[in-house]
Amino acid sequence: MDFELNEELQALQETCRRIAQDKVKPRAREIDEANEYPQDLFDVFRDAGLLGLCIPEDLGGSGAGILGLTVAIEEVAKYSNTAALMLLLTRLPTGPVMIAGSRDLNERYVAGIASGERRGSFCLSEPQAGSDVMGMRTRAVRDGDAWVLNGTKCWISGVAQADWYTVFAKTSDDPASRDHGSITAFVVERGWDGVEVGSLDRKMGVRGVATGELLLTDVRVPAENVIGEVGGWQAAMLGLNAMRPIVAARGIGLAEGALMYATEYVKERAAFTRTIADFQGIQWEIAKLATEIEAARLLTYRAAVMADEGKYTKQWVPHLSMCKYYATEVAVKASNVCLQMLGAAGYMKDHMTELYYRDAKQLTIVEGTSQVQLGLIARGVLHQDLWWD
Ligand SMILES: Cc1cc2nc3c(=O)[nH]c(=O)nc-3n(C[C@H](O)[C@H](O)[C@H](O)COP(=O)(O)OP(=O)(O)OC[C@H]3O[C@@H](n4cnc5c(N)ncnc54)[C@H](O)[C@@H]3O)c2cc1C
Repeated sequence: MDFELNEELQALQETCRRIAQDKVKPRAREIDEANEYPQDLFDVFRDAGLLGLCIPEDLGGSGAGILGLTVAIEEVAKYSNTAALMLLLTRLPTGPVMIAGSRDLNERYVAGIASGERRGSFCLSEPQAGSDVMGMRTRAVRDGDAWVLNGTKCWISGVAQADWYTVFAKTSDDPASRDHGSITAFVVERGWDGVEVGSLDRKMGVRGVATGELLLTDVRVPAENVIGEVGGWQAAMLGLNAMRPIVAARGIGLAEGALMYATEYVKERAAFTRTIADFQGIQWEIAKLATEIEAARLLTYRAAVMADEGKYTKQWVPHLSMCKYYATEVAVKASNVCLQMLGAAGYMKDHMTELYYRDAKQLTIVEGTSQVQLGLIARGVLHQDLWWD
């Protein structure tokens, strides 16, 4: 058992730390206030080769895997969860294609993500179907050598910048079917007839990368753009399972950033003839958060290693879900406690704490809420996928 990153990953961590401090940190507040897509940071990530971390070398990526992307996102999320989301979006829509898609689809769509020439989004949720994915109403009907898609997707991260979308639709005859085999994944291009970006959301945090609707009206998708098999929903779920450490990394980075920020502040804040860092009540909060951050890191790094080893099928789900559940809940807790440590100052936009607080809450909702993760962990124990005997 080795708890150290290898030399390559240490070098990647160092590079990302420098980029995060020099390029991301000074932009975080502006991005939140302007709520505009930070193309400059996208260019920085592209030039540093960070857009292809989880993409294999034969598709133009660096092959650093889920662990590599996890390490990079942790560094960036210390200062901006919007920037961290931009890196995450290199994997969310490409995951199902890399796991289940044809070589042709990988070459036509995934390679462009690694080079930064194209961007993708992941379109699963619908207004009436978030946690309850099987409630989706978007339909795909076969018509000759194509499928015709109709429906509305919502809350789609990066919808406005994406050049292509991984879209899930019901392909069964019965649109009300709750059978897993009734859902199929497709790659849909932004420029095709009938594809339209609908309204954009007014978000409380993670601003700058918009979420919004994708409207699909009689969109003809060639059969070769089916990802994997027709009815291959399971492959899409594998993509999400493998994502858990990547979204967890946004949580641990945010918690680390918030705790470092608050720690610097309490060492300077004078009260009762000393600094508030001298009080045991404050020290214990710092100690508890530091412990929980390290516990979340261990869960997350282990899950990332597992995902890179292909361990993202059913029996590994509890371990993967645990890191997402725990790291994102730690992020919410840390952002709350750290804001409190700054008192009134923490509530003001002069400090980063209120931004961490608003950003953190997104993380316990996206890609399977905390409650959904708890359900998956519990099922794993009940089925003895996770058992200690
Ligand atoms: C900022 C942001 C970005 C997003 N980006 C994307 C994206 O890029 N692509 C995409 O497809 N989707 C995206 N989503 C949508 C996200 O995946 C859904 O919001 C999420 O799956 C939850 O669905 P819901 O909002 O409909 O909540 P609901 O499913 O309506 O759940 C409401 C509440 O009930 C709880 N709940 C639901 N079912 C159960 C249960 N069985 N047991 C216990 N509690 C339960 C939930 O945990 C939650 O607390 C994004 C959401 C946000 C906020």
